[in-house]
Amino acid sequence: MLFRNPAILSFLTLAALACGPSALPPVPASVEPAAPSTAAKPEAPPAPPAVKSGPVSASPQMKSFKLGAFTVVALRDATFVAANDNKAIGVGLTPEAVAAELKKAGLPEDRIELNVGALLVKTGKQVVLLDSGLGDGPKGALVESLKLAGVAPADVTDVLITHSHFDHVGGLATGDGKLTYPNATIRMSNKEWTAFKANADLAKLVAVVTPKVKGFEPGAEVVPGITAIELYGHTPGHLGYEVKSGKERIFDLGDLAHSSVLSLAKPEWTMGFDGDGPLATKVRRSRLEALAKDKELVFAPHFPFPSIGYVSAKDGAFAWKAQVPGE
Ligand SMILES: [Zn+2]
Repeated sequence: MLFRNPAILSFLTLAALACGPSALPPVPASVEPAAPSTAAKPEAPPAPPAVKSGPVSASPQMKSFKLGAFTVVALRDATFVAANDNKAIGVGLTPEAVAAELKKAGLPEDRIELNVGALLVKTGKQVVLLDSGLGDGPKGALVESLKLAGVAPADVTDVLITHSHFDHVGGLATGDGKLTYPNATIRMSNKEWTAFKANADLAKLVAVVTPKVKGFEPGAEVVPGITAIELYGHTPGHLGYEVKSGKERIFDLGDLAHSSVLSLAKPEWTMGFDGDGPLATKVRRSRLEALAKDKELVFAPHFPFPSIGYVSAKDGAFAWKAQVPGE
């Protein structure tokens, strides 16, 4: 089945898998349709240019708020554009079926635009980054966004990884093959680290990060106040992270859901990004149900920046309400 095809397992493959982090393809200059020419009137309107799937540079951005005694900061890295071609979202459906859902939300119908982001948690003792974005290859802006938050790469003490797709681990290394966060321990589930090491396309990155990686089992409190939650399916060892200070908490759901519209309105749709489609779909629905029931604050790195808000139940599925605490 299509979602089992390794060629579409990850953003990495869609963006740049072939040659590793230092040889990503050029970022599309623009995904906007060209302005119509006024020089000559064609007999038939020209077909709009096909949307190219891939990463697109974004301006650095950060959004900071308090969570109990912690400071939490949503960070922007890039945008990922997926053409509405049923390869990434709505596998096995038609573009028209996906377009109908996009139209309901007032979004362009020929593409699905996803944010690429990461979360920073300053606990007072540790400076913790949850995922590392795309990195230098497609000109991810995460390090610049961190600077806006007053944090230098050398300040980061821990990088907690949800999973080893390139838009989450690519930023662990710089373009010239050095550790981006030289003083940080890199943490991920033991199962994900095994999958990461087995991915030949990530061999260069694995070689750079290996001395810094420490695996753990889901359920572990990885740093004080941040607990890893098993969300296997998207990848073999995919995790979410529960960040808690006092009575306040936020759940980083990783790639449990990609589109704030489609993944919530149609959680049963097969995602090309999911390694084990049936398991990922089951885990997506049950965890979204729990998040809606608990009215828990959520960080969803692929939802529109700042990617902070709440999941609620709607029409037998779910809806997203963007909301930053205190605003
Ligand atoms: Zn992702």
